[in-house]
Amino acid sequence: MGLNRRQLLYLLGASGGAVALGTLPQQAKAQSAPAAEGPHTLAPLPYAYEALEPYIDAETMRFHHDKHHAGYVRNLNAAINKYPNLRNQSPEDLVRNLDSLPEDIRQTVRNNGGGHVNHTMFWQIMAPNAGGKPTGELARAIDSSFGSFEAFQEKFNQAGSGRFGSGWAWLVLEGDKLAVTSTLNQDSPWMSAMVPIMGNDVWEHAYYLKYRNDRGAYLKQWWNVVNWPEVNKRFLQARGR
Ligand code: MN
Repeated sequence: MGLNRRQLLYLLGASGGAVALGTLPQQAKAQSAPAAEGPHTLAPLPYAYEALEPYIDAETMRFHHDKHHAGYVRNLNAAINKYPNLRNQSPEDLVRNLDSLPEDIRQTVRNNGGGHVNHTMFWQIMAPNAGGKPTGELARAIDSSFGSFEAFQEKFNQAGSGRFGSGWAWLVLEGDKLAVTSTLNQDSPWMSAMVPIMGNDVWEHAYYLKYRNDRGAYLKQWWNVVNWPEVNKRFLQARGR
């Protein structure tokens, strides 16, 4: 046989594949659309994926924002879509009032609402050509609360390295006092009546591609991308609440 059996099967397979390609993407779209759509949206990064190099690599940023954060938004929407009366609540309102939520979505909102709020803050409090020392009233408040900026950094790094497993290190406003704390998984300081001023993500997905198992090195280098004017702005807003 000229056009042999193997070639024929290949052609059949290819045409079968072409048919499938013509229909499957539409089906996939139709299935994923309801979960992806909802009141909560993923804002684009406020800078390019590679903007925080060499401290945070572009591949980490791409996966972190486009996959991890996008997943939190998608899962949050899927939960909220079950309860249209919750559509108008901000992500912060949702995580501040977990106890008021229907029990069947409470843990989902805790994980994914927390993930959404935490990461939205995270992208904003980092920037290219940043780092250095805090500015404005925040600088004074850090000095009076922790003794010095260096003492604050050490305490913050300890919160990050001491958090076993996945979580976050935080600078928070608790009442009218600045404090350093850490949370587990995607828990937000909002869940404990504290206002998050700045936080560092110490999940392995935040640093493993570049720093591997060395969380301490990541914590140290991270200060080079902290957007202090933005953190100061968040501090002033929190204090004005
Ligand atoms: Mn993360």
